[in-house]
Amino acid sequence: MNESIPPPMERSKVFIGVAWPYANSAIHLGHVAGSLLPPDIFSRYHKMRGNRVLMVSGSDQHGTPVTVRAEKENRSPQQVADHYHEVNKKAIEDLGIEFSLFTKTHTENHIRVVQEIFTSLLNKGHLDQRETQQYFCPTCDKFLPDRYVEGRCGKCGNENSRSDQCDKCGTTFEVGEIADPICITCKSRPEMKETRHYFFKLTDFEGPLLSYVQGSKHWRSNVQLFTQNWLESGLKDRPITRDMSWGVPVPLPGSEGKVIYVWFEAVIGYLSASKEWAKNTGDENAWKEFWTDPSVKGYYFLGKDNIPFHTIIWPSILMGYGGLNLPYDVPANEFLTFKGEKLSKSKGPSIDIPSILKLFDADQLRYYLATNMPEGKDADFSWEDFETKVNNELVATLGNYFHRVLSFTHKNFRDVPPMVNGLDSEAKQVEEAIAAAMAEVEANISTCQFKKGLKAVMDLAQFGNRFFDSCAPWSLLKTDRAKCGGVLHLNMKIVQALAVLGFPYLPFTTQRLWALLGNDGVIGEGSWEMIGKELNVGRALPEPKPLYRKVEIQREESPFAGFEALDLRVGLIESVSDHPNADKLMVLKVNIGRPIQLVAGLKAFYSKEELTGKKVVVITNLQPAKLRGVESQGMVLAAEAGEKVKVLTPAGPAEPGDRVTSGLSPGTKVLTFQEFQTFTLRTGTVINDLEADLGNKVRADTSGLTKGAQAAFFLPKEGAEVALPLYTEKKVSIGVDGDLDNGAKVR
Ligand SMILES: [Zn+2]
Ligand SMILES: [Zn+2]
Repeated sequence: MNESIPPPMERSKVFIGVAWPYANSAIHLGHVAGSLLPPDIFSRYHKMRGNRVLMVSGSDQHGTPVTVRAEKENRSPQQVADHYHEVNKKAIEDLGIEFSLFTKTHTENHIRVVQEIFTSLLNKGHLDQRETQQYFCPTCDKFLPDRYVEGRCGKCGNENSRSDQCDKCGTTFEVGEIADPICITCKSRPEMKETRHYFFKLTDFEGPLLSYVQGSKHWRSNVQLFTQNWLESGLKDRPITRDMSWGVPVPLPGSEGKVIYVWFEAVIGYLSASKEWAKNTGDENAWKEFWTDPSVKGYYFLGKDNIPFHTIIWPSILMGYGGLNLPYDVPANEFLTFKGEKLSKSKGPSIDIPSILKLFDADQLRYYLATNMPEGKDADFSWEDFETKVNNELVATLGNYFHRVLSFTHKNFRDVPPMVNGLDSEAKQVEEAIAAAMAEVEANISTCQFKKGLKAVMDLAQFGNRFFDSCAPWSLLKTDRAKCGGVLHLNMKIVQALAVLGFPYLPFTTQRLWALLGNDGVIGEGSWEMIGKELNVGRALPEPKPLYRKVEIQREESPFAGFEALDLRVGLIESVSDHPNADKLMVLKVNIGRPIQLVAGLKAFYSKEELTGKKVVVITNLQPAKLRGVESQGMVLAAEAGEKVKVLTPAGPAEPGDRVTSGLSPGTKVLTFQEFQTFTLRTGTVINDLEADLGNKVRADTSGLTKGAQAAFFLPKEGAEVALPLYTEKKVSIGVDGDLDNGAKVR
């Protein structure tokens, strides 16, 4: 037994706040792994322990992400926000995430609670009004909130950066900092205009916050560190109102056209949702039990990008308002990534929950996301890994054990067999294994270590499989039927323990398992006590059915797999001389990480001086050939349109020898010149992040490339509608050394 296991928890009350998903799109796997599944596991566990839980969240409906989407779709912000609220509410229910209340921010109740807190902070002197500069569009005749202005990021050169933050490099900007700002509605240049806004005096809370954070040693180290750094770099008073119409109106005369900033208002949702829940229960004051009793611990679940709002902003608001509990723990998760990048809807396979739940069962998803939860560090998601974990662990270990025990017992006994004498050592083994699993699950879930908690459940299932084998009930059946019933009885006790211990993670299937054991009722409040309860001996067993099915992921071969035959490298032309026997040819000494010699037909298009020192792209796995008596160990790639020929060249910093792989693997086989001629390489112009013009419009992931730039592309075949931009391992794209018509052939 683990020594650090705390004594059994007393019946207590727990408040759980869950970060509010934005109502501008459907929730995706990142939300579930990061902030939705952990609190559900936590809450189900506490309810099983007999504790009272209030768990709230809702849709964050205000703010510019919603209004921008609404304008694009020609709908009102409320229509967009209510649509995604319904979509996400249903997805959350379908996943089995159980809230006391999942509400939304555009409600009368929320608006009233926010305004009341605003007024109270104002009266206590924690808010004041200041002059500030704001983008103003003279054409649209309105102030422009952050997302309504785009410009160029001075750090990375991104031409379409939002005015508050660059999506490419993460740099944040103050008003006026972005280069070449434009109004996204009318494309004209906004001016700066004075406006008056309310500021939240965060500086009032510096001292109290510091001691609050220092007193929270139980926080995860990432949360503690992040917050400490924020505080040490000094707090700044921040504007909490802005000039727009969608949001919570500032409740003061003369403030028409101003609303409260969403980052300030959404966190107040924890309190307003608690009040709404209380009203729904018929006791308007019920929320106070969870907010004013200092013995109640409040846990807030969120992704790491949300940490400062819950460890600095929300505690400051609560300190300023007074009389309410501060967050006790903020177990923020890192990100779930897809091939190393933060999950987002534009990348990779469809990852939104409503679509995924059409293909897979909720418990399959919950299992995978719980084993692969980004606790402590980012976790990478892949459909292949999902398939492996579900099939090899959920189906082959857990499901298989349940089915072996239940189907063998049902087939040979029909009802729950009694325990018999003479199995003392077996019974002791089982009892100890269950007790150890209970202690592990308790120690880990109660400290928000959900991955480890699930591992304890799976360890017990593995023990069960071994125990079943060691009992060999199939041979006992022929020699000692009563003893066979006895060992099956013991195995059913393990299955029963697994049903309860696994319930926080796999609520749908463990509930069905409970019934398959011949038990009454359901797993839920107070069920922890039922882990070791006596079986209903003699009770007829229902016909068992497998609880988990295997998944098979359709593997789509990349359309660009053919590109992997090429080994392309950046080469530096070190010297150029005339070919001794041919008028149109030149002999180049090129450094591709090692020196090679190439013969190129570029004499009509480039002078020796122009070529010397130029960086080019060389195909290096071409069969060496003698051209008019001089050996060529590869070929310089050049594009040809009409009379013009231009070499391909890296569009950014590149070293001789850098591979041009476009994120795939380089070729290893030697190609003949004829084989190389079958590859389709073209140059064209980048239209936007998703399209390029190669003479005709094609789809291509050009998200790292500059709009309007010329670049080289691989096409799976002539006339294909998708293309792969060429870029180096260091993500430097391959451009053209001069202007060519779109669709120029690379040879
Ligand atoms: Zn940038
Ligand atoms: Zn405008």
